[in-house]
Amino acid sequence: MKKHYDWLIVGAGFTGAVLAERLASRADKRVLLIDRRKHLGGNAYDCLNEHGHLFHQYGPHIFHTNSQQVVDYLSLFTNWRPYEHRVVAIIEDRLIPIPFNLTGIEILFSSAEAEKLRDLLVNSYGFGQKVPILRMRDSEHAGIRDLADFIYQNVFHGYTTKQWGLAPEQLSPSVTARVPVNISYDDRYFADSFQKMPLEGYTRLFERLTSHSNITLALDTDYEQVASQISFGNAVHTGAVDEFFSYELGHLPYRSLRFDFATLRQSCHQPVGTVNYPTSQAFTRITEMAHLTGQWSEATTVVVEYPQAHQPGLTTPYYPIPQDDNQNLHRRYLQFAAREAPNIQFAGRLGDYRYYNMDQAVGHALAIFTKSIGPSL
Ligand code: FAD
Ligand code: UDP
Repeated sequence: MKKHYDWLIVGAGFTGAVLAERLASRADKRVLLIDRRKHLGGNAYDCLNEHGHLFHQYGPHIFHTNSQQVVDYLSLFTNWRPYEHRVVAIIEDRLIPIPFNLTGIEILFSSAEAEKLRDLLVNSYGFGQKVPILRMRDSEHAGIRDLADFIYQNVFHGYTTKQWGLAPEQLSPSVTARVPVNISYDDRYFADSFQKMPLEGYTRLFERLTSHSNITLALDTDYEQVASQISFGNAVHTGAVDEFFSYELGHLPYRSLRFDFATLRQSCHQPVGTVNYPTSQAFTRITEMAHLTGQWSEATTVVVEYPQAHQPGLTTPYYPIPQDDNQNLHRRYLQFAAREAPNIQFAGRLGDYRYYNMDQAVGHALAIFTKSIGPSL
């Protein structure tokens, strides 16, 4: 006889692990949580390297949110280390804060020009406002358009072309709007009210999330390996929906990355967590882990990100590509799924084909629980 679980959850990233935890602890459901990877945490997985430095295997993950519900929930499983992420870009051989802000104008322009531009921006948008670059380029004011073109060329065009293989205007405007121009001197990368890192790292958080006795955890286990071996009441799948249906309706495009890690014999490599290279190099950014973890020593670990096309079976699909055609194809896949696999719900960054941050993945998992069972906290 097949072993029965109330819920099968495919993927032990934030979406799957949070949902499994709530179902097990709040609804007393028997949950089988599987992941094809050999570890918990999905793309948020971290571990120690041979130098004892905590690093993020799938690229730098900085936690930030405006959701008190998400903070309250995750705080049941981790303490926090205060950390506000800062980023600079190399522009005209100088280090300019990103998001681009009034400090950048003062570094790059003469003081007379900078004063004029600052007044223009403050009078047009208001001090403290955040303006997406594509909106700024549409300004009625020629002086603002010129400045916007400068920022577009030096901050957005090269970086976006490397990151996505597409120009900013070929993507949903929401992509570049994640990093709006700040009409202020705020040099933090994120503006969220809560910006902290899990004190003992993400993997420790995931170990606590998944430790409930109602959860059976099977790592190194693909959906295909268990699908015919067990029975289940409900399932949530946080992998890619096009792969699940063997690309029956066509391929959903994703962007992939290659990460190069290095431990350098120096105590500090760069002045802030991340340095972006919008107009030079084949990589987009270098992140120095010690800024994120506080683990300063005589050596320092950095990660360099090289964007690449995603090739199913060969590379990892890290980013859904936010474009209307892709969103439409994803919708068609969900309609197909409703007919072909009605007891499986697709969720998460891959399943929903949405450019979620970690807090959004957690928020959506809590919402799935509420919809299926009842209030999550
Ligand atoms: P995932 O973490 O992708 O987990 C899905 C899991 O499903 C994977 O482990 C996969 O192995 C498993 N899986 C898929 N198919 C199958 C199958 N058939 N069988 C078994 N298992 C399967 N967010 C932030 O908030 N801050 C950041 O700084 C940040 N930086 C990022 C940097 C990079 C380079 C990337 C790629 C993402 C970043 N994110 C960041 C986003 C963050 O990674 C996601 O929001 C979060 O990981 C989404 O969780 P998830 O559970 O939906 O998906
Ligand atoms: N971006 C850019 N230049 C920068 C930083 C960001 O062009 O210096 C654009 C780019 O298109 C990028 C998007 O803004 O993909 C979102 O940046 P974010 O740092 O949020 O990307 P992620 O951390 O998710 O890779």
